Amino acid sequence: MRPILRDGIVCIGDAYGGTLELIASQLPLLGIRTHLILGSELDRLDGLLAEGTRMVFLETPSNPTLELFDIAAIAERAHAHGALLMVDNTFASPVNQQPLALGADLVVHSATKYLGGHSDITAGALMGAKVLVDAVWPWRKNLGTTPAPETAALLARSLRSLVVRVQAQNASAMAIALAMAAHPRIARVLYPGLEGFPGHALARRQMSGFGGMLTLDIAGDGAAASAVVDRLKLFAIAPSLGGVESLATQPVTTTHHGVDPAERARRGIGDAMVRLSVGLEDPQDLIDDLTQALDG
Ligand SMILES: *Cc1c(COP(=O)(O)O)cnc(C)c1O
Repeated sequence: MRPILRDGIVCIGDAYGGTLELIASQLPLLGIRTHLILGSELDRLDGLLAEGTRMVFLETPSNPTLELFDIAAIAERAHAHGALLMVDNTFASPVNQQPLALGADLVVHSATKYLGGHSDITAGALMGAKVLVDAVWPWRKNLGTTPAPETAALLARSLRSLVVRVQAQNASAMAIALAMAAHPRIARVLYPGLEGFPGHALARRQMSGFGGMLTLDIAGDGAAASAVVDRLKLFAIAPSLGGVESLATQPVTTTHHGVDPAERARRGIGDAMVRLSVGLEDPQDLIDDLTQALDG
């Protein structure tokens, strides 16, 4: 079978740590040329496509700054050079965003997150045209990335409540974003649903809901943000996301701890950022918990 990824991948913007490691360090070992560019460097994309890039990869909204990318526009640029666009749609979930309908060729989900929704399975999903997905099938079979039957059964059950879970999480996240934007100890709220957010207009165009993920930039330094996180009672302090329980995590001490401080700064990831995954608790209880943690 002819390999699809012959001549390279461009990853745009921030991506999940494991994905970045795969793209930056592991795929090159297999002879695949890879490039990482920031959202602010999109002008480099056409040049890299002209040099033989076969696939563009991105996450939108991305972690942890909720940066948005225009799926339709980037798909058009990729297709003009015969390249594919793959989108990691984990943060949005299929309820809030359908990249295939916007022109992407392949979509991946960590089903560990919203699709599973209860923080009790690890699984993944790939969607796209049959000819593309069929090419992945023997790799999946022979490399062993196949979920156990118990995992598949839990995932099938969870999918039945996906839409109502995500709709409730969208509504709660919006309420929390508005409440936090009005709090004096919050420097900035990063949430696609807020009118002042840079990606808001694009979010209105390409998303049908703004999602359950938001990031708070606490006024003060990293230690001040850690103290706020430590005072939370209802939010569990943990990475991961998309489950029924609300989670808070400080990227600089967890997911992005291993990233060089200068690189974190270049990517706009501040020490005082706290990322929230909004669950299904009463939204006012969540706002009260954040408020007492900020005021404490
Ligand atoms: C968690 C996550 C992954 C990795 O998924 P696992 O199911 O934990 O392997 C990939 N992409 C995004 C955006 C994620 O949040």
